[in-house]
Amino acid sequence: MVVMKLSGIAVSPGIAEGKIYLVEEPKIAVQRVPSDPEIEKKRFDHALDETVSDLEHIRDTAAAQLAHSDVDILDAHVLMVRDPDLIDGVTRLIDEDRCNAEYAVDIVGRMFISSFENMNNEYMRTRAADLKGLLYRILCHLSDVQIPDLSLIREPVILAGKDINVSDALAVDQRYIKGFLTQSGSLTSHVAILARSIDKPALVGIRKLTKYIDQGDTVIIDGIGGQLIIDPEEEEIQLYRDKKAAYTEDKKKLLSLKDAETRTTDDHVVELYANMATQTSMDTIGDSGAEGIGLFRSEFLYLDRDSAPGEDLQYRIYKSILESMPDRRIIIRTLDVGADRFPKYIRRGREANPFLGVRAIRFSLQNQEIFRTQLRALMRASVHGRLSVLLPMIATLDELLEAKQIFAEEKEKLLENNIPVSDEMELGIMIEVPSAALMAESLAKEVDFLSIGTNDLIQFTFAADRMSENVSYLYQPLHPAVLRLIKMIIDGAHAHGRWCGMCGEMAGDLEAVPVLLGLGLDMFSMSETFILSARKLINSLNYKEMTKLAEQAVSMSSAKEVQELVREAIMNHNG
Ligand code: PEP
Ligand code: MG
Repeated sequence: MVVMKLSGIAVSPGIAEGKIYLVEEPKIAVQRVPSDPEIEKKRFDHALDETVSDLEHIRDTAAAQLAHSDVDILDAHVLMVRDPDLIDGVTRLIDEDRCNAEYAVDIVGRMFISSFENMNNEYMRTRAADLKGLLYRILCHLSDVQIPDLSLIREPVILAGKDINVSDALAVDQRYIKGFLTQSGSLTSHVAILARSIDKPALVGIRKLTKYIDQGDTVIIDGIGGQLIIDPEEEEIQLYRDKKAAYTEDKKKLLSLKDAETRTTDDHVVELYANMATQTSMDTIGDSGAEGIGLFRSEFLYLDRDSAPGEDLQYRIYKSILESMPDRRIIIRTLDVGADRFPKYIRRGREANPFLGVRAIRFSLQNQEIFRTQLRALMRASVHGRLSVLLPMIATLDELLEAKQIFAEEKEKLLENNIPVSDEMELGIMIEVPSAALMAESLAKEVDFLSIGTNDLIQFTFAADRMSENVSYLYQPLHPAVLRLIKMIIDGAHAHGRWCGMCGEMAGDLEAVPVLLGLGLDMFSMSETFILSARKLINSLNYKEMTKLAEQAVSMSSAKEVQELVREAIMNHNG
């Protein structure tokens, strides 16, 4: 047999061997089949019991994890499945029409759904969506179709699909995720970011992936070389086990730098922080060498749920994050929803270009109750550690001033109620829109720090969708167009004595690090997997030399030229 190999973009390093779990909803074709009503009613009862038992299981699992603490909705789902009107409708149709249970569930279910949908009330429409999911689950049990419920995964798997949405991935108990494979996506798509954050290998942009893999296939992901090996033979398995052992060994050696400073040979000190997608990733932060958290993407608290997290729940989560690294700076970004990250309980307006639409700070300013709740939770938590609050996607000074006004109002209300807020709390903004990069100096005056979001900044600079593999060649962090914007941002921050960090993926790109260092970046925030390698590199570099290298780089005319310049510089350093 010829071993099948596919290439993809390696977006999270490491090697994993395991079974595929295809994230997709199997289609169920329901047909009317004349049947014995007594048998069908029993089948229906049994399917209801199984559905309720699934829901109880999901609820118990969710209750055990902090991020899933809002479990009441699952109890409400149990009541919906046990709804006497629904049960009565289905059994009556089975009796009268002598049809099979699947058919009766489908017909009666559709009637219920459309009556909910027609109620012209947001809450009822959400219930209609819930009911659709529950009926699908009942139909799966009736048809013996395996239900694609990711929270039921109880063995190690490699999640694969055309695309994997982050909410689905978060539903899986993270202990059971061995890696990720997707047909679409790029280095900066969110499943890639999640994979790096939980330190699992991932390949994205694998052409025609779903045509070549099946549920349960054994595969190897090579997240270093960008290869997917389907149905590997013994020889291949051994080869990759050796490669994995060497990779693990290299990682172990770097551990000696865990508590070291990041200091160039001529004593210029910078800080290396970690990006965090979920609060469970805090468990591994200790060994990563992170000197702080440079980006906690708070939207992950909002996604995998049925309603927005309340102030107290958020407060508890932020507090526990702050208390887990009491002396270190922890930067929590306010909600960045919209585009590819949309909680299901928020009504979504139609937008032809959602990445350019109501997202991040724009969403928060237009949905102030959600924003104010989050700010209050953050401010209350601020006394438990060293908190910095980061506002995403600021495009103009007016947006920043409006957000600051809201911030000040909420702070005042808390203080009036004798709820303490730390005086040390910093406020910063992400610079990820070219307009903000060009105006960085005037923005910097209004805040304590700037943080460069290169994932968006690069997509907007080149007008190239970060989710599209077809234009991924335009993700060119080393392009002088990007470097000039970055220089402007760093200089703008320094002109007002503010510090400047970077939390986009470029900060952990070892080819970009020497240039960023030379441009004067103060803090690099990256996936924890890259921190020790970046420290090793920076500790071997000379800051003055890198300043010259950066000067040269910004005056060049292509990414390729800059890349050659950097490679040569690194080679000279390594002897
Ligand atoms: C960025 O745009 O660089 C960034 C860090 O934000 P996100 O990837 O969450 O959009
Ligand atoms: Mg961004």
